[in-house]
Amino acid sequence: METDPTRVCELLVGLGPGVEILGAMGQPNGPLVVWVQTRLDGPVACPACGVIAQVKDRPKVELVDLCSFGRPARLMWRKRRWQCRDRDCGAGSLTEHHPAIAPPRAGMTVRAGRWCCEQVGRHGRTVAEVARTLGCDWHTVNDAVIGWGTALLAADAARIGPVAALGLDETLFCRQGKWRTQVWCTSVVDVGSGQLLDVVEGRNAAAASEWIDARPAAWRAGIDWGVLDMSGPYRKTFTDSLPDAVQVVDPFHVSKHANKMLDECRRRVQNETLGHRGHKDDPLYRVRRLLTKGHERLDERGEAKLMSLLEAGDPRGEVRMTWHAKETVRTLYGIADPDDAAEFLDELVADMADPDMPPEVQSLAGTLRRWRNQILAWHTARVSNGPTEAVNNLIKRIKRIGFGFRRFDHYRIRVLLYAGRPNWDLLTTINPAEIR
Ligand SMILES: [Zn+2]
Repeated sequence: METDPTRVCELLVGLGPGVEILGAMGQPNGPLVVWVQTRLDGPVACPACGVIAQVKDRPKVELVDLCSFGRPARLMWRKRRWQCRDRDCGAGSLTEHHPAIAPPRAGMTVRAGRWCCEQVGRHGRTVAEVARTLGCDWHTVNDAVIGWGTALLAADAARIGPVAALGLDETLFCRQGKWRTQVWCTSVVDVGSGQLLDVVEGRNAAAASEWIDARPAAWRAGIDWGVLDMSGPYRKTFTDSLPDAVQVVDPFHVSKHANKMLDECRRRVQNETLGHRGHKDDPLYRVRRLLTKGHERLDERGEAKLMSLLEAGDPRGEVRMTWHAKETVRTLYGIADPDDAAEFLDELVADMADPDMPPEVQSLAGTLRRWRNQILAWHTARVSNGPTEAVNNLIKRIKRIGFGFRRFDHYRIRVLLYAGRPNWDLLTTINPAEIR
């Protein structure tokens, strides 16, 4: 039976009655190409003077479309460029646009653009992978993701709901220039739910304050807890912009700092005993990952290996002492009662500050003392049941996306699509004003 190929195409292309299919073709190894034009309802008037305009020329625009029959596809749009008939009018030529086909300047159809945005933004597929599927250029996909993603986030006014515990965290956004200089930004997080609310450039107090100050007063008033790492700038942000919120240092950052001190101690002892930086055969180098792992996560073999490597590489027992201090600090979070926790922390800090302790342990004691109230506030705050895990997962998600961006605005859109929980249902209701 003979089927009208144009009708089949019309259904497949699915652009609605305003778009007419002119034909379909394709080379055996190339993409399927569908030619379209818009249907005209009547004459088109010059927007400047109202005189009937005439078609000046028919530029063809090639748009990447979704695959058809497992094959890359292109929409070839025969556009009309209009020109006023009145020579004295002075209005320039006018190129037609059609919201069902593609946003202005887009290299992709509407449906392909939305699909790319969701594949990359929501499901975390790479731009390169999606570009391969569609048989098109990397930039065409990236432009679509950023264009549709920007429009989606702008339309999603309800994305940021009420927040009880607001977290600020420094995040590495890229490395720039000859020296691979680290460029940082600040993640703004709902600690209770693990939702990324936004990212702002820099990791200074002012940038984060500016973001908070721009929120509605009622939203700010709902924040009971300001969750931070042990850094001065974010303390200033909370003090300035959310003076009524109780500041809390979360366990993740306490643990991270203790591990940092442990790493420093290990490097120092390595250098003092062997006179060089860690080499793959050195016991202190081989033990580095076992040391920073939580003790409860070591099996019997791991434990035995840890002890024998320390035996071999740590003659004065300094690394072992610092490891022990780190593990003891972590037990703070096994204590339920806030008063017990306070007593425990004060005793621990006094022990760790002993002049016989390795300098790294003494330094850790100083940090814990300076942040005592914020650390202990955790036991009262208990921001939610699994906040640390939620935020850790969030950080992993951000990191997965994070690297390879040079433009902060593009990075921001990508991480918010992936970790910011936009309402994806809105994607079919929006249309970007322009792509790029
Ligand atoms: Zn005119």
